[in-house]
Amino acid sequence: MTYLTIDNVVKNFGDFRALKGVSLTVEEGEFICFLGPSGCGKTTLLRAIAGLDLPSDGRIEQAGRDITQAPPEQRDFGIVFQSYALFPNLTVYQNIAFGLENLRLPRAEIQHRVQSLLETIGLPDSGNKYPGQLSGGQQQRVALARAIALSPGLLLLDEPLSALDARVRVQLRAEIKRLQRELKVTTIMVTHDQEEALAMADRIVVMNHGDIEQIGPPEEIYYQPATPFVARFIGAMNFHATVADCDGRLSLGKHTLPRQVAPGSRHLLAWRPELTRLADTGEGPALRGRIQQLSFLGAFIRAEVAVDSHPEPILADLSARDCDLRRLQPGQEIALALPMEHTHLFSEACT
Ligand code: ATP
Repeated sequence: MTYLTIDNVVKNFGDFRALKGVSLTVEEGEFICFLGPSGCGKTTLLRAIAGLDLPSDGRIEQAGRDITQAPPEQRDFGIVFQSYALFPNLTVYQNIAFGLENLRLPRAEIQHRVQSLLETIGLPDSGNKYPGQLSGGQQQRVALARAIALSPGLLLLDEPLSALDARVRVQLRAEIKRLQRELKVTTIMVTHDQEEALAMADRIVVMNHGDIEQIGPPEEIYYQPATPFVARFIGAMNFHATVADCDGRLSLGKHTLPRQVAPGSRHLLAWRPELTRLADTGEGPALRGRIQQLSFLGAFIRAEVAVDSHPEPILADLSARDCDLRRLQPGQEIALALPMEHTHLFSEACT
């Protein structure tokens, strides 16, 4: 069931249009990530949903109710910011209880609820501590508990993990996801971290320059990017500009794409570094080049290969399964192959 409808939302700051008519729907219980580079409008859209900034045009509906112009306190959401935003002079218990006390619930009920939330976030004995006595990750857990204390219909997370160090970030990522599943709370998280979005979201909304480029589940965004921007922004991608021959064939080296296009049309072929292989002897290579750099990345080695016809090096992620990695050296000439059936094709119109 649709929980949130964002219909043609525009936001202007003076002459600058930060949101250019954004539309999307969010299903009840879904975990949505707004993902995009700095300045693309993610936070502006989240703030419009929260009522912290009102849209210049368009309409927002929550649970069937028009909330476009409603102040934040008349909307049903909990929010967590990047900068924890806990009250430093209140204990952890008081921070979490804050909203519940405003509702004037019976003391015993508040105590029970806060204790249960403390257990949920893995800090059962920290109620009497002050935020300053907790680590960044622990403070963010408390901020999360405070945001869900009133069982909101919508949980908004504005880059909640970006101030934390890498290890805590990965751990908290899994905890937030687990909690969201348990509570079944509709959640929207803003992030510029593609890995975070891929790991956590049911659907990712990829934004660029105040517009939506693509909406889809992580696998679809990764394997079927709709535009070169999405392809470039999510994971690493190689590109090769090419023109179809008079029979409508596109080729890369000796490889031909297994589909026809308009003769003479211009395209970008794109493929992931993990799909690039070393060409076997006897097999026609797609590209020949010289290894510029080798980076050991644990599960694989990333080779940056300078190819004459390419302004940027071609990336090839090679694993021990593919070849004897000890034989690769910078400066060495290599021949690359790629499975043409797994390449993406963008016509010049969408580049
Ligand atoms: P980041 O990841 O850096 O936070 P973002 O995608 O969340 O980026 P927004 O904060 O939504 O981006 O900003 C979108 C654009 O709107 C930016 O160009 C920003 O400079 C501009 N902007 C945001 N808030 C205001 C404001 N109050 N006044 C003027 N311009 C603003």
